[in-house]
Amino acid sequence: MNLARFPRRRYTPGFTPLERIPRLSVALGGAELWIKRDDLLGLAGGGNKTRKLEFLVADALAKGADTLITVGAPQSNHCRLTLAVAAREGLQCRLVIEERVPGSYAADALGNNLLFDLMGASSVRMVKAGADLAAEMAADAAAVTAAGGRPYVIVGGGSSPLGALGYAACAQEIMDQAFDMGVAFDRIVVASGSAGTHSGLIAGLVALNAGIPVTGINVRRARAEQEANVLKLAQATADLIGTPQPVAADIVCLDEWVGPGYSLPTREMVAAVRLLAAQEGVLLDPVYSGKAMAGLIGLVRDGRIGTNERVLFLHTGGSPSLSAFGQVLRDPALN
Ligand SMILES: *Cc1c(COP(=O)(O)O)cnc(C)c1O
Repeated sequence: MNLARFPRRRYTPGFTPLERIPRLSVALGGAELWIKRDDLLGLAGGGNKTRKLEFLVADALAKGADTLITVGAPQSNHCRLTLAVAAREGLQCRLVIEERVPGSYAADALGNNLLFDLMGASSVRMVKAGADLAAEMAADAAAVTAAGGRPYVIVGGGSSPLGALGYAACAQEIMDQAFDMGVAFDRIVVASGSAGTHSGLIAGLVALNAGIPVTGINVRRARAEQEANVLKLAQATADLIGTPQPVAADIVCLDEWVGPGYSLPTREMVAAVRLLAAQEGVLLDPVYSGKAMAGLIGLVRDGRIGTNERVLFLHTGGSPSLSAFGQVLRDPALN
């Protein structure tokens, strides 16, 4: 796998830490748990979208773009990081916000919404759930073009094959670190949403012939639909890199921790956010990494992850949204 062939901007100095979380292992009574700290990636607040944007923004700059356009939910980490990278590169940025949960968008909300203000989006426009997001972004792009600008549209979550290269690169980084530290992982657990993270990781691990299974924990979709999405994007990413095709058997997306729906709280999520904060000083988020960690905890507790397994949790970030979820995290009915 030779990723150096692809233009890339760098927003993180060096590698993110790969650490043990021994106090969580003790709290769960087993499994040797490790964490890949992609919450500490570069750009404002870190998180997984930074790796995807390294390849996407290099492409935008090569094409002479002056304005980035993207889409996300009201507390979108992807929108926050796209704005941050636009500020860093001297580009304009326009956001389309999809109100996936009706009534959930408030322009004056804290968390990532506050950061949209501070980082100076040229436009933040809310659309209803189910809107044609590609058409909405195309309308923004047309407005930019009409004003003499050069737009570059980034799909939701940055989950195109080009964006997913960021997580093929992460697979390589994990394998290098694990070799350096003499640690052989039995499994990797990761949140699975717009699928670029999970898919890129799979494409990279297959290319490297790593032999490490990945368990995806869904944050939105049902199992079969998400597994199909991940397989398709993992195969397209492998095509782009020119490496062997992942197959259906490589993809596992568990949907037992989604709860009532995307971004809606569960007791297991609140318990996971509290446990990691209190036992390890690691901040998760209510929408993604909190549910993914709830999945890991559930799998250890019910024995699907053995007490002797060495498991790596890929921390995809998200803590900048915590302040917007204070009521949820303190809700007696969820604690
Ligand atoms: C976007 C996001 C995810 C999900 O990653 P996908 O590539 O969209 O599947 C997980 N965690 C956080 C914090 C995110 O912002």
